[in-house]
Amino acid sequence: MAASTPHVLVIGAGTGGLCLAHGLRRAGISVAVYERYRTRGEGLLGYRVGIGPTGSRALRECLPAELFDTYLATCARSPRYFNVISQRMRQTASFELRPDTDPVDTERSVARMTLRQVLLTGMEDVVHFDKTFTRYEQRDDGTVTAHFADGSTATGDLLVAADGTHSAVRRQYLPHAVTRDAGTINIATRIPLTPHTRGLLPERIRRGISLIFGAGGMMGVLHVMEFKWDRDGAVKPEVSAADAAVLARWPGLAHDNTRDNINLVIWSTARRFPADVMRRRGEELIRLALELTRGWHPNLRELLACGDPDSALPIRVSTSEPVPPWKSSTVTLLGDAIHTMTPGRGVGANTALRDAALLCRQLRLAAAGDKPLVQAVADYETVMVPYGFARVADSLNRSGTNGDDRMYHPLFGRLALLGARGYFTVTSRVPRLRRKFVDDFYTYRGEED
Ligand SMILES: Cc1cc2nc3c(=O)[nH]c(=O)nc-3n(C[C@H](O)[C@H](O)[C@H](O)COP(=O)(O)OP(=O)(O)OC[C@H]3O[C@@H](n4cnc5c(N)ncnc54)[C@H](O)[C@@H]3O)c2cc1C
Repeated sequence: MAASTPHVLVIGAGTGGLCLAHGLRRAGISVAVYERYRTRGEGLLGYRVGIGPTGSRALRECLPAELFDTYLATCARSPRYFNVISQRMRQTASFELRPDTDPVDTERSVARMTLRQVLLTGMEDVVHFDKTFTRYEQRDDGTVTAHFADGSTATGDLLVAADGTHSAVRRQYLPHAVTRDAGTINIATRIPLTPHTRGLLPERIRRGISLIFGAGGMMGVLHVMEFKWDRDGAVKPEVSAADAAVLARWPGLAHDNTRDNINLVIWSTARRFPADVMRRRGEELIRLALELTRGWHPNLRELLACGDPDSALPIRVSTSEPVPPWKSSTVTLLGDAIHTMTPGRGVGANTALRDAALLCRQLRLAAAGDKPLVQAVADYETVMVPYGFARVADSLNRSGTNGDDRMYHPLFGRLALLGARGYFTVTSRVPRLRRKFVDDFYTYRGEED
């Protein structure tokens, strides 16, 4: 078969789309990315994303080596503990996590905006901002044309939907695909890390991921994000010379205003929130978070009160239904555009990155003439769909992000919560169970089923 290098159009400069674009460019495959945001700094993206072995492995495969080092240098300090605490900040369980000495086999904390700036590095000629995709046409000559809201078009050999949960490409290509409300709502807040806010947290919580079990099924998760740069964007003195050199060479820091902070997200079944919660912003949303956590420890409430009002965000959690098989063509999808999952297991971005690496591998085979383009797409989809929807199912059913979960039941919820806390207490105290819990945490986050 004769080799013919395809031109790939990617809709969406998010986690998956940009990782794919890097991989294609490294492989010498022509790629253009179209993003609706007007600039590289637009969007409220200050929150934490946990990248496990699956995501880091994909990034290492797709990014140029120096940019992968920049990704590592721009992660926040990795969590050393997984804690389970009560709303009164009493420790139910605390598991020691592995050190982050391995570049891939570990759990990393990344700020969404920082990761985006890393992925945009060196892509100025590839990413086109202010391009809202509206529809596509598949032409008889095998090409596909994307149309944008400003009236412009772009034509290529393959169109990749990397445009997230509300994908306009999916709406046209797989109109029967179902994305739905999972029945839970999050209020995400970001609190500047200052001597005062730092002092509100004991050491294990400051250095870990902490899951908060609140009464009545009001849950929380807390992460402290400490970066290698200070409030002025200058590299901190304790940073290694190697990381300092990587950061000094990285132009992206100038576009990133992420600073040390505490991410505190509270969530529960949507029934616990007022009907207008999705319209609330700023101080009003922080006041609501304080009302919903009335019985919580004063230090946790003080953190919420110190939250940056501009960062407070309500998030209606979505999930998706498995899509029946479709006939592969010159349009395909990755990440949330095909398998939106709740944040319950923290694997949505990891799975989008895994998709990107897998699709990239297949497109390299097509570009080398080893298989036709549509066969490469079909081979990607055959593998991606089962693992993608497996992650959707575990994220919904094993994490309390389903609004119908027993823990939110008005009568049995208390028992379900006691059961869950009992599980963590026993698991953390029995050495064999404790080791298995930590092993399973990493196995799941590095799984390649
Ligand atoms: C609260 C919360 C916490 C999370 N925590 C984690 C975590 O710890 N670990 C993890 O792995 N995952 C996490 N996730 C999930 C993760 O954020 C997503 O799964 C991941 O970002 C999906 O990547 P993507 O590339 O598919 O889409 P996105 O990153 O959402 O990118 C889509 C891009 O497409 C653009 N776009 C949309 N429509 C159009 C259009 N019409 N035209 C042009 N561009 C368009 C958007 O502007 C955006 O830039 C979390 C999610 C939430 C809500």
